[in-house]
Amino acid sequence: PIEIAMSTSFGTKNVLELAAETDSRVLLASTSEVYGDPEIHPQRESYNGNVNIRGLRASYDESKRLSEALAVAYHRNHDVDVRTVRIFNTYGPRMRPDDGRVIPNFVTQAINDQPITVHGDGSQTRSFTYVDDLIRAFRMYMLKDGLNGEVINVGSQKEITILELAETVLDTIETDSQITYVGRPEDDPERRQPDITRAQELLGWNPEISLSEGLAETAE
Ligand code: UDP
Repeated sequence: PIEIAMSTSFGTKNVLELAAETDSRVLLASTSEVYGDPEIHPQRESYNGNVNIRGLRASYDESKRLSEALAVAYHRNHDVDVRTVRIFNTYGPRMRPDDGRVIPNFVTQAINDQPITVHGDGSQTRSFTYVDDLIRAFRMYMLKDGLNGEVINVGSQKEITILELAETVLDTIETDSQITYVGRPEDDPERRQPDITRAQELLGWNPEISLSEGLAETAE
């Protein structure tokens, strides 16, 4: 957690300094984690979030929030052309199978006929975005003039429970795996769904790849 906080904050500062020196356009890859465990649904960019400042995820969440504050400051004070994107749970081919996130875990477990480890009762939700949809949004955002200093959510609006995700994985991949229920980590956000009105209005962007298509590509 300490390295995460340092690389996220000082790392972002280094990039913003370089951008100021070289007059470069910057994409800040922020995260839905800046909303913490959100109290409003769906989350729009104007929502200031509900991060537990002493929680298990705090060093990540708070340093990402600081990186956004730095982006705004460099934009205001040094005229840096920085565009911030809040990325919601993204997945796709070439994720590290052992990176610990839910889709690499479930897909790897299904491929190896191991139990699918649902945390808690699986009623918590996420909105999963296929990587190609995300990258298409990045390109549109970065190639369009006049979006200096903006922030947009990018993610799928299709909110599903983790149990539904497990069932979709079982329907998509041929496997003998079965669902098993294990302990839920502390401070695990309950619900998450982006309001993408802004990305739709500013970029004309919408996600196109369904979860089952994306999961099949990922498993392959
Ligand atoms: N999760 C799960 N089983 C796993 C890994 C994760 O049920 O093997 C759950 C986790 O508790 C969370 C959701 O899946 O509710 C998404 O977790 P992930 O770490 O992928 O992303 P994040 O919590 O950062 O959105």
